[in-house]
Amino acid sequence: MEWNSPITELKNIGEQRAKKLAKLHILTLGDLLTHYPRDYKDRSRLVTISELSETEENTFVARIRREGVSTRRGKLTITYVQVYDDTGEIPLLWYNQIYMKTTFQKDEAYLFTGRVQKKYGRREIASPEYEKIGDSFAGGKIVPVYPASDGLSQKMLRTYLLEALEWIQGQLPENLPLWLRKKYRLAERNFAIQNIHFPMTETAFYDARRRLVFEELFFMQSALLSLKQRMSQKGEGICMEHVEALEDFEGFLPFQMTNAQKKVLSEIQKDMTGGKVMNRLVQGDVGSGKTAVAMAAAYWAIRNGYQVVMMAPTEVLAEQHMQSFAEIFTPLGIRVLCLTGSMTAKEKRTALAEIANGNAQMIVGTHAVIQKGVLYDQVGLVITDEQHRFGVRQRGMLAQKGENPHVLVMTATPIPRTLALILYGDLDISIIDELPPGRQAIDTIAVNGTYRQRIYTFLGKQKAEGRQAYVICPMIEENEKLEVENVLDYTEKLQEALPDCRIACVHGRMKAKEKQEMMSAFACGNTDILVSTTVIEVGINVPNATVMLIENAERFGLAQLHQLRGRVGRGAEKSYCILVSDSKTKIARERMQIMTKTRDGFVISEMDLKLRGPGEFFGVRQHGLPEMKIANLYHDMFILKQAQEAAALLLERDPELVQEEHMGVRTYFTTWFEGKTVEL
Ligand code: ADP
Ligand code: MG
Repeated sequence: MEWNSPITELKNIGEQRAKKLAKLHILTLGDLLTHYPRDYKDRSRLVTISELSETEENTFVARIRREGVSTRRGKLTITYVQVYDDTGEIPLLWYNQIYMKTTFQKDEAYLFTGRVQKKYGRREIASPEYEKIGDSFAGGKIVPVYPASDGLSQKMLRTYLLEALEWIQGQLPENLPLWLRKKYRLAERNFAIQNIHFPMTETAFYDARRRLVFEELFFMQSALLSLKQRMSQKGEGICMEHVEALEDFEGFLPFQMTNAQKKVLSEIQKDMTGGKVMNRLVQGDVGSGKTAVAMAAAYWAIRNGYQVVMMAPTEVLAEQHMQSFAEIFTPLGIRVLCLTGSMTAKEKRTALAEIANGNAQMIVGTHAVIQKGVLYDQVGLVITDEQHRFGVRQRGMLAQKGENPHVLVMTATPIPRTLALILYGDLDISIIDELPPGRQAIDTIAVNGTYRQRIYTFLGKQKAEGRQAYVICPMIEENEKLEVENVLDYTEKLQEALPDCRIACVHGRMKAKEKQEMMSAFACGNTDILVSTTVIEVGINVPNATVMLIENAERFGLAQLHQLRGRVGRGAEKSYCILVSDSKTKIARERMQIMTKTRDGFVISEMDLKLRGPGEFFGVRQHGLPEMKIANLYHDMFILKQAQEAAALLLERDPELVQEEHMGVRTYFTTWFEGKTVEL
């Protein structure tokens, strides 16, 4: 059994269970061991039967009075087991689990955890968790609570983890060298894994967590640093000789560039003519005009006789970019071509031929552009849009499509600068810190569900004025089917309320092509209201849309709400963002308040990081930061700095990782990179 062994090698995991685990992204033993608890329950405090509380969960040790009895009540079979200790007795019961009758042994002691309920004046505990305890029993434990999903109970996950831990028997190879563990006082790996799942003590837990957070950040930093080293060794970049004045290109656009766009373009220009390989990240809030910047850079490269490839995270976005580029480039005689996964084989063949013979100059597409079969003629510049959606590897693969092409990555995620410098250590950073003129502030209001009728009336009015609206229903975590139903139900309800509106919906189970059709219908004004989950989150540009209505707004992260809000306010008309939430929690209220008060993406992203506690249900993914399994990039900033320093030390000592003591690092590094976990 190894780190990458399939999970089905564990005793109790068959096909069915494996499928369910896969939904939690658990495919291998390593995935399981790094499926870290999101919380813990303290079961170290034991009570007696006389002390059982009716308001909280109890953990207690009791003995079995006699074999259980089952009774039928309609379709239910209830099995009762009577237990006792020195202070009293209580019945435990299970529904439709007849085998519970014989699960326990008379007079043996077990550890039970459950809630007391009162039925007809009698106390009982339904479906408690149980565990047999041997003579060595020394008290209850701190038990893990995992991110779970349909059909996988906490108990199952705990059992799997116990089994996995037993299997590895403390024999996991250490992946951090001794000198490093000494220097940063890090716990040993087996200890850490054991204690993150089943902490012996509170101190053990903190030591375990720090070690694992460090490990995670250390490998991320090492990956970035070695990438950066490789980049700088690449040395000479293509020197674009014919780069005209920006004004010349500006003449082809329907607007003037903002000063911020110009500033960033002059940085890009310097890179492209400087003889070194450009590796630049352009950060700009939603709507700041990153596409136009990409377009100018592409134009220069094409004028110098090179091909330009731009990769977008979704088909919808790729299609939209395709249109924007074609609008400006086609009249200039530049051949623009789209390459996506949903093209027919024949379409693809024609496209590939044009790409290979250099006829296609500007290629826009999805992941399809980095597939093996795509051979380019002469790539001089590669651009990735909304780059946090792609992994380091994909970014690297795109760059390999040419001979040291320049690389431009664009993101709307306003990461606080300190963090950006660490996360994107391999890139230079440019910031577009100004929005095009004439943008109106978007009125943001936060209301509860009682306002829904009034909101619908408002949507109707906007429609009557020729405007369009987005409605966002939240994703339902881990359950695509429910999510689809949710969107469909909502659409129906909305259609009833607004019979005159043309309403369409987009959801995760649609084929790319269908989605595309829905989006285009909305973009060209054939649909008034588009209901969707967050599939429209990034990049979409429909200037005539003036309302963004977000249901269950508390379920979105701040940064994501900001992204969504950025979809409106793109035209000349007054725009609105309406956040509907019935949540009364403090954190939800705080979030709504921030949204109504500020529209500065950087402030919002900083607050976002601050407001999410460690292990929050909605992960960092929505923030656009790389997804961490255990580290929290805000709260663990200090460890992040240490990890960065450590990675630099390691690569200085042993850049190729050939020394004996670094074999562990090397091995782990390789397997880690093979996984898809590296999202930067
Ligand atoms: P993002 O940075 O979010 O990718 P886009 O590039 O999609 O933003 O631009 C948003 C909108 O602003 C587009 O309709 C684009 O044509 C317009 N735009 C971009 N730059 C300018 C500018 N300098 N002046 C006016 N409009 C602009
Ligand atoms: Mg964009």
